Amino acid sequence: MSIAENIARIRENMAAAAREAGREPGEITLVGASKMNDADACRQAIAAGIDALGENRVQEMVQKLEQHAYDGAPLHFIGHLQRNKVNKVVGHVALIQSVGSAELLEAVGKAAAARDLVQDVLLEVNIGREAAKSGFLPEELFAGAEAALENPHVRVRGLMTIPPADADRDTNMRYFEQVRTLYVDINEKLFHNELEYLSMGMSGDYADAIRAGATMVRVGSAIFGARHYS
Ligand SMILES: *Cc1c(COP(=O)(O)O)cnc(C)c1O
Repeated sequence: MSIAENIARIRENMAAAAREAGREPGEITLVGASKMNDADACRQAIAAGIDALGENRVQEMVQKLEQHAYDGAPLHFIGHLQRNKVNKVVGHVALIQSVGSAELLEAVGKAAAARDLVQDVLLEVNIGREAAKSGFLPEELFAGAEAALENPHVRVRGLMTIPPADADRDTNMRYFEQVRTLYVDINEKLFHNELEYLSMGMSGDYADAIRAGATMVRVGSAIFGARHYS
């Protein structure tokens, strides 16, 4: 299967899940998670109409930016971001999906201020309370969002989450629903219902995520094929 065929099939599945949930297929954004795939694969995804590409590793993203891998589509940063690398990301991507702590939020704001711009971000929620994972705990999210609202150089566009990898399907679905509840709540209480993006769901569970309310899914291997870690 080609990248274009994979994207077409995923779009059909996304549309079916959206309709099941009583929503418009067109309101869900497909982000291609292109880590470990080369510039040519990125270009194929863009030619096939992917809505955005998302990268995880700063170094790989910088290299592929130099190769103009992302020309023609918005670029997102979706991976763990270290504070000492924010300068290589802020202002270079349309959206940082993985802002998961007050410290990182402040560092992003500082880098954006130095460049005299406003960086769009999603707040990442650590819904499974995993020690090894970044992200705001649910009870920290409100304060994180309030800090973001006070920072003129960051603009929160929504939430992102990655549930624990070992959750069974029902548990996974419950995690998605919990994040959706948080999203609706902070959207109403803090953002005048102007948030647009609830980013959740990957190759194995994007249809469930859409059923649970995702407006953005991040799909890697189902588009680009299995990644080979050496
Ligand atoms: C790799 C990655 C994805 C996509 O994972 P697949 O299972 O290959 O679809 C989504 N989100 C993030 C943050 C990732 O790192």
